[in-house]
Amino acid sequence: MHSYSLIAPAKINLYLEIIGDRPDGYHELVMILQSIDLADRIELYPNGTQKIRVHCHHPQVPLDQSNLAYRAAQLMREEFPDTFANLGGVEITIDKRIPVAAGLAGGSADAAAVLVGINQMWQLGLTQPELQTLAAKLGSDVPFCISGGTAIATGRGEQLDPIDDLENLWVVLAKYRSLSVSTAWAYQTYKQQFSNSYISDAKNVQSRTVQVHSGPLVSAIIHKDGALIGKLLHNDLEKVVLPEFPQVAKLREAFERAGGLGTLLSGSGPTIFALCESQGQAEEIKGQVRGAIADPDLEFWLARLASTGIQVASSAKH
Ligand code: ATP
Repeated sequence: MHSYSLIAPAKINLYLEIIGDRPDGYHELVMILQSIDLADRIELYPNGTQKIRVHCHHPQVPLDQSNLAYRAAQLMREEFPDTFANLGGVEITIDKRIPVAAGLAGGSADAAAVLVGINQMWQLGLTQPELQTLAAKLGSDVPFCISGGTAIATGRGEQLDPIDDLENLWVVLAKYRSLSVSTAWAYQTYKQQFSNSYISDAKNVQSRTVQVHSGPLVSAIIHKDGALIGKLLHNDLEKVVLPEFPQVAKLREAFERAGGLGTLLSGSGPTIFALCESQGQAEEIKGQVRGAIADPDLEFWLARLASTGIQVASSAKH
């Protein structure tokens, strides 16, 4: 058997619209998701025991069964019990580079990497769509994290339509180290405040989804019109996250003043990003925002938009 080293990229939302709620408790969404090259590294080693173990030095990442990477390995164990019994468990080491609870799908990316890695380690031969069907059992963002790139995501986020990859653009991201936002809290609060505007019947949900598919942002992405993409960035969750966290609202304002193509809260936040036409512009905006908000708790990352999801960086015979 082989051990594997995988790259698990974060995602940002270029668009997030909450259309309504669903009988399963999730929300009906239409999103445009984008991979960036800020990525965790996942190492998978066959351990020859009947155990799955997670190793990670990041204080906010749990090492028990609540870790999404653990849950991904556990799912593979349940789906392929004979293979697990024959080949044994895995050691999962997470080199955490994606900020945690930041709206960047870090846990989902790790889970996606474990599914891709175990598929190879156990030589299961699952196709990408088959892996994505399994991934949807772990979380709404996990299927996207497998394929990555640029995609329209509908349903609860698990139904994907890839669009032309957006490359050559950069983002500068910023997050207060000590601040995290619960995704569940953000959606629940949105529901409490805005459910009166929800679309409820399936036909209208479908037509809203079609409108976004054929709408101006998707067209701007297809035409690689960075300036227009920047203007059309949108995230409904800003309506609940920004009023609750005034320092995030101020951070967003500082980003807007600094320029770039456009600024947005990613997912449920609290990460704010600016879309930039070059690395130089991203550096400049970082400098300006850092100058405007001199808080040592504020961290920055520069990343390039990425056209790939999970990648196997290397494998070695164990
Ligand atoms: P999303 O945008 O998909 O909701 P997020 O980026 O906001 O995700 P994560 O970084 O995935 O949030 O972490 C959310 C919570 O999940 C954390 O508070 C952490 O305790 C827990 N968690 C479980 N597994 C992981 C993992 N592998 N990496 C990071 N956090 C994890």
